[in-house]
Amino acid sequence: KPTVAIVGRPNVGKSTIFNRIVGERISIVEDVPGVTRDRIYSSGEWLNQYFNIIDTGGIEISDAPFMTQIREQAEIAIDEADVIIFMTNGREGLTSADEEVAKILYRSKKPVVVAVNKVDNPDMRDTLYDFYALGFGEPIPISGSHGLGLGDLLDFVIENFPKDEEEDYDEDIIKFSLIGRPNVGKSSLVNALLGEERVIVSDVAGTTRDAIDTPYSYDGKDYVIIDTAGMRKKGKVYETTEKYSVLRALRAIERSDVVLVVINGEEGIIEQDKKIAGYAHEAGRAIVIVVNKWDAVEKDEKTMKEFEQKIRDHFLFLDYAPIVFLSAKTKKRVHTLIPKIEIASENHSMRVITTVLNDVIMDAVAMNPTPTDKGQRLKIYYATQVAVKPPTFVIFVNDPELLHFSYKRFLENRIRDAFGFEGTPIKLIARPRK
Ligand code: GDP
Repeated sequence: KPTVAIVGRPNVGKSTIFNRIVGERISIVEDVPGVTRDRIYSSGEWLNQYFNIIDTGGIEISDAPFMTQIREQAEIAIDEADVIIFMTNGREGLTSADEEVAKILYRSKKPVVVAVNKVDNPDMRDTLYDFYALGFGEPIPISGSHGLGLGDLLDFVIENFPKDEEEDYDEDIIKFSLIGRPNVGKSSLVNALLGEERVIVSDVAGTTRDAIDTPYSYDGKDYVIIDTAGMRKKGKVYETTEKYSVLRALRAIERSDVVLVVINGEEGIIEQDKKIAGYAHEAGRAIVIVVNKWDAVEKDEKTMKEFEQKIRDHFLFLDYAPIVFLSAKTKKRVHTLIPKIEIASENHSMRVITTVLNDVIMDAVAMNPTPTDKGQRLKIYYATQVAVKPPTFVIFVNDPELLHFSYKRFLENRIRDAFGFEGTPIKLIARPRK
């Protein structure tokens, strides 16, 4: 999917436009209590073209002076986006901060469209002319509060998406990424996997994200490692901000089949780990949990079991993810990782036989009767698998409202028990039978 970024100085209305473009999509969070996406990254659609969208204004670079903030945000847009929406404010007119942003955007080869916000009435159209001076062609008047002009803006955006799909890996090549807090050892683990083959990527501004896709072979099979750690640009202020790391992680997750959630075994689990893992789960990717730095942990025969239990307690929603303990440093057990990735990936695209699925559901219902609500009992007519990556099932029922969370969870678990979906989330959707 192509990516669109919104940049501009504060208070021009970036997040209003972001929310308008994203629409209701943002609140769609599959049954993961407490896990929501940051409101800086989401997806949108226009004329049947789907894209990711980033509100760079939401990436606060704490402590940095005002000008540095907007400059860094513009850099992020250049790094991440295929098309950039440069927002300005028609009421306030052109400001020096706008010109500052423009100067940075000139350096990118990316298509830029200037959106002049808060142009709510025709008299204000004259103010548009000033914005031609930014040098990005015809400015588009919009009104975030009234939702005017968005169509024109999005027309420009989708017309300027890269024409050829940049990704043409074979279907059977598994793409996996490593996510986790800084210093958990992602980079070291990539090194451990690659050994001597490690490709050093240059720090040139505008290095495309494809440059960090590293091909990798194991046991005669090809993989692609989506390596976020290798992309670090030394000296950029925004590299250290949490939201930017999250953004990076989300972009990598989006493009992966399997996500390795890397945890530092020496430090244990902290809240941020949970959040990062939540993104991968929510995105419906296959997941393997990696506990790194296991060499540095003082252990007895119980330590691993205890740590595993801790992970299970913290990541209740990841009960399906296998856990691998290893050391990137000593390379101990690094070889056990790829087989787990294989299993997770295989299950991620598993299709089950419909009759067997229906038998499983019927057995489940016989064992644990469906719930009733206001005198009505949930009736399940038929189940079928509608998608893979992740496996997604639709069950046709009399009334979807009657499928309460706990019963849904029960059915999901029965499906898991029957088919063994280790390493992958599954989705269950109830639909009314027509
Ligand atoms: P990243 O930010 O997640 O990519 O982490 P790095 O790969 O840069 O590693 C951060 C630090 O942890 C470095 O000093 C590594 O040498 C160290 N480290 C990485 N893996 C291991 C490991 O398995 N054991 C130990 N003891 N240290 C490790």
